[in-house]
Amino acid sequence: MKLYFASGNKHKRDEMSRLLGGYQLTIPSDEGISFSPDENGSSYIENAQIKAKALWDIVHQPVIADDSGLSVKALGGKPGIHSARYGEENGKKLSSEEKYMLLLKNMEGTEDRSASFIAALCLILDEERIFIIQESCKGSIALSPSGTSGFGYDPVFYSDEARRISAELSPDEKDIYSHRGKAARLMKMILDRELSKEALI
Ligand code: IMP
Repeated sequence: MKLYFASGNKHKRDEMSRLLGGYQLTIPSDEGISFSPDENGSSYIENAQIKAKALWDIVHQPVIADDSGLSVKALGGKPGIHSARYGEENGKKLSSEEKYMLLLKNMEGTEDRSASFIAALCLILDEERIFIIQESCKGSIALSPSGTSGFGYDPVFYSDEARRISAELSPDEKDIYSHRGKAARLMKMILDRELSKEALI
């Protein structure tokens, strides 16, 4: 079954396709749909809802959206919902490496390095059936980067559960422990249940 994913991030699309196996995930750019909603919510959940609703308003078909980021305790939860744009001011773009190096710099001398990756998912099946899940992956910010897989802040995030740096995990290992993996497995249970109910009607 086709499911729209309200994202422009191909890494996240690939992760989500693996996690929701069995659904044909389509991002707006796959169909030439221009999509850049104003992510002006004040939480991961609000932003996931904004993205899902914006795409629903265009396609009127089942839509899933995620909003995620890295919350660092010593930085008062930053970069948080602004993780994708951390350090970007006055229209200046930073690479992922520049962002995580900036994070390491901002944490120099900080003893409490605890942090969590957070993912909120919003699924809209129709105007009356909307499901929201938020999950997390606890860990800490490493002293230096390591590993080559994953994306974003993975090279500087040590996962407590996996006991490794996130960028050192294979995609399958990351899926077991990651914030998005945990949230998507729960969402897949809801999707399977709701769509099997529809098949019986
Ligand atoms: P958004 O959800 O599109 O607003 O972007 C979230 C940002 O958080 C990404 O661009 C990454 O910088 C970061 N992020 C979210 N999930 C992960 C992850 O699994 N690994 C590394 N970085 C992540």
